[in-house]
Amino acid sequence: MTRICLYCPNPVPPSRQNPKFCCGTCRTNFHNGLRKLGERLFNQGAVTIEQVRAENTATKP
Ligand SMILES: [Zn+2]
Repeated sequence: MTRICLYCPNPVPPSRQNPKFCCGTCRTNFHNGLRKLGERLFNQGAVTIEQVRAENTATKP
């Protein structure tokens, strides 16, 4: 079964540890883009600091 990279149209090699992305560059670009988007939404007032804090507490084990 071939997976497609979350960030670009390339297939993900079966040996990848993180099967979401075809390469580390796509993973980095994806997270950089999300961070910039999130910061912009926060600056626009679409996201509150309470929501940002809730995300951090939710991801802790
Ligand atoms: Zn990719």
